Formats: sequence, structure tokens, C-alpha cells
Amino acid sequence: MRIVVLVKYVPDATGERSFAADGTVDRAAADGLLSELDEYAIEQALQIADEGDDVEVVAMTLGPDDAADAIKRSLQMGASAGIHINDEAVHGSDSLATSTVLAAAIAKAEPDLVVCGMASTDGAMGVVPAMIAERLGWPGLTFGATLSVSGDTVSIRRDGDVASQTIEASLPAVVSVTDQSGEARYPSMKGILAAKKKPVQHWALADLGVEPAIVGLAAASSTVLETTPRPPKEAGRIVPDSDGAGSAALVDFLSAGKYI
Ligand SMILES: Cc1cc2nc3c(=O)[nH]c(=O)nc-3n(C[C@H](O)[C@H](O)[C@H](O)COP(=O)(O)OP(=O)(O)OC[C@H]3O[C@@H](n4cnc5c(N)ncnc54)[C@H](O)[C@@H]3O)c2cc1C
Repeated sequence: MRIVVLVKYVPDATGERSFAADGTVDRAAADGLLSELDEYAIEQALQIADEGDDVEVVAMTLGPDDAADAIKRSLQMGASAGIHINDEAVHGSDSLATSTVLAAAIAKAEPDLVVCGMASTDGAMGVVPAMIAERLGWPGLTFGATLSVSGDTVSIRRDGDVASQTIEASLPAVVSVTDQSGEARYPSMKGILAAKKKPVQHWALADLGVEPAIVGLAAASSTVLETTPRPPKEAGRIVPDSDGAGSAALVDFLSAGKYI
């Protein structure tokens, strides 16, 4: 069985993040890392590999040179190989174009299952997995709190506010898992050393038969007109509670609705 895990390289949310003049994220100005929510996707794929026989886990990313770090981290966690799609023409792509390129790469990799995170930690749209499933004509099972494969059947449990749904489909399929799907493992020293020897393929749009004219900023269906920095968070107010006035001050604060 071959499982492809889609992993995105994103700006570190704890660092300074800014936008470039063309409205895209200034990725060169920020340190990047593997999107935290995609670690859960890798973990779920590795658990299937741990339980199964002859299961290959391939980490796939679409991103600039630095996105190699997302593959490296996935290999250190235990993925067996990587595929890095890197092409300048992709810069500024919207979710439609991103899903077009990833669907073409997945078709070329021929997996039985594609596992994604619930959303990236930068664009955070949560739409790419469903878009890819649509483009491939495969079932899409999204936002799974659990993931399991039995024979040619994949199933997830999706937890909603009022009910949980158990959803299953025949392979091949695209699934996304949430951050409630279980703790992601940390790379072991053995895993970090082994990662250096694992194969990584490098593909460009030409390898996928995708025309550069349909991706990138110029082809994007949505345009960022302006970006304005969020005002800095106001400092909190400290209320000494020596004489029990604290609770009254808190009630005043809450009833005034200032915290919204
Ligand atoms: C701040 C911001 C706002 C944006 N707004 C829009 C917008 O309004 N409309 C629009 O069409 N585009 C928008 N984009 C662009 C969009 O984010 C990118 O096209 C992106 O690659 C896909 O969207 P996402 O990151 O939200 O993915 P999501 O749909 O949140 O990603 C879900 C999962 O798909 C997989 N995945 C997503 N991208 C990649 C990748 N590059 N490589 C490998 N796996 C991946 C991962 O498993 C991820 O967990 C925005 C980007 C940013 C940074």
C-alpha cells in the first residue's frame, strides 16, 4: 500500500510574519517550518504503516526551496520517501491552482490513500483536500478525529457539536485528519539519522503536465487588494483583589463587553 501525506511549509507562527508588496506572504522574511497540523496527518499515516505490512508513506510538498524542511521533518518522523514539487511559476497560487498541481502530482505518484492536515497554519482555508478529491474523482473524507484502513475500505470518525459520524469509502481516497486525532510522534535520533539516506524526488510543473499559465499570482481567482497590520494587542489590566473588589471589577468588565 502507498500512502501520500500532503505537508505544507509555512511561516513560523511565533515569528514576525509579513506580506510582500504583491500581497503574498513574504516567506523569505520569515523562518518556516512544517505546518503543525500536518504532523497529525503524518502520524496517522505512520500508524497505518506500523499496523500494516508493506505500507509505504511518502511525504509530498508544493513549495519553494526551503520547503525541503517540511519533507526532512516528515522523513525524520518516519516517512519512507519524499516528493518536493518546486516551480517558480507557482508563486502566489490560490487554493484552486494549488489543488490542481497537487492533484496532478498525486496522479503521478499513484497512491492508494492521500492523508492531509485539517488546514494549513498560514492560509488556513481547509479546502485543499476536498478540492483534490474532486479533481481526482476520488472520495473525500475530511476532518477525521480517527482514521483506519481495512482491506480496500478507509473510514474516519468526524466529531461534530451534536453528533459523531462514522464515514467510510473505497480506496483510493483523500482524507484529512484533525488535531484531535492523536499526539504526533517526535523524531528519534535513529529517525533523524535514517532520514538523511531516504530518497526525495524533485518535480517541476513540466514533470506534471501542468501549464504555468494556469497557476501563480497572475492566474489567481482572488486578489489581495491591501494588507493592514493588526493593531498591537492592548496590555491587560491587573486588578488587585485584596478587599474582594476583584470579582466586582471582573463583573463590571464582563458586563461592559470590553473583552469582545
Ligand atoms: C494569509 C493567506 C490568505 C490566503 N487567502 C486565500 C484565499 O482567500 N483564496 C485562495 O484561493 N487562496 C488563498 N491563499 C492561498 C492559499 O493559501 C494557497 O493556495 C495554499 O497553498 C492552499 O491553501 P491553504 O494553505 O489555506 O490550504 P488548506 O486548504 O488549509 O490546507 C489543507 C491541507 O492541504 C494540504 N496542503 C495545502 N497546501 C499545500 C502545499 N502547498 N503543499 C502540500 N500540501 C498542502 C496540507 O495537508 C494541509 O493541511 C491564502 C494564503 C495565505 C497565506
